[in-house]
Amino acid sequence: MTSNRLKHSGVAANEAPAARLFVIAAPSGAGKTTLVRKLVARNPDIRFSVSYTTRQKRRNEEDGRDYFFVNLTDFHDLQEKGELLESALVFDNYYGTSRQQVEKHLANDHHVLLEIDWQGAQQVRESMSECITIFILPPSRAELERRLRDRQTDSDAVIERRLRDALSDMSHWNEFDYCIVNDDLDRAVDELEAVLRGDCEHCRSARMRPLIEKILA
Ligand code: 5GP
Repeated sequence: MTSNRLKHSGVAANEAPAARLFVIAAPSGAGKTTLVRKLVARNPDIRFSVSYTTRQKRRNEEDGRDYFFVNLTDFHDLQEKGELLESALVFDNYYGTSRQQVEKHLANDHHVLLEIDWQGAQQVRESMSECITIFILPPSRAELERRLRDRQTDSDAVIERRLRDALSDMSHWNEFDYCIVNDDLDRAVDELEAVLRGDCEHCRSARMRPLIEKILA
C-alpha cells in the first residue's frame, strides 16, 4: 500500500508508487496560497518543497518552513553546484527549488507540490517532462484588481505594478496542462484535487480557452 490518498490516473493502490510532481503557478491576486493550504489540509500526505530565496524574511515567516532564506552568494553557489531544479528572478529577488527535496519526497511516494512562478515552471517542464502543471486564474480582471487593492498596505504605484505583472504572468496560461479559475474557493479546491487524481478533463487548458479569453479580454 502506498501512502498517497490521491492516486493519479488509474493506478491501483497495490501497484508501483504513483507519486508525481505538480507545479502550480498563478499571478498574485489569484488566491493560490489559500487554495493550496486548503488542498493540503484535506490531503496531508502531499508534500511541499521549501524553496530557497534571497528575499528578506517577512515578520510571520520562519526560515526552513516558509523558505530557506539565503544571501546572493549562497544562492549562486547552489545554482553552480546544480542543487536547484529551477531558479528565477521574481519581483527583484531570486527563488529556487531544491532538487534534493523534490527527489526525496517522490522517492518516499509522496505527491510533491511546487508553488513557483511561470519561469520556474518552464524549467521544471524541460527537466522533468512527466510533471503536471497547473495555472490558477482569478475570475476576472476587475476581481483581480479588487483583490490587489484590498491589500491596503500597498501604495497605488505598487498596486499598479502588481496589476501589470499579474496580467503579464497570466499571458502564460496556455503553457500549463490545466487551468483553474478561482471564483469559488471550495469548487477550485475540488478541481485541484481532481487534477491531482487525474480526473479533471474539463480543466485542461485547451478546453478552458474560451473562458480564459473572456477573463483576459
Ligand atoms: P513570495 O515572495 O510572495 O512568497 O513569492 C513571490 C513569487 O515567487 C510567487 O509567484 C511564488 O510562486 C514565486 N516563487 C516562490 N518560490 C519559488 C521558487 O522556488 N521558484 C520560482 N521560480 N518561483 C518561486
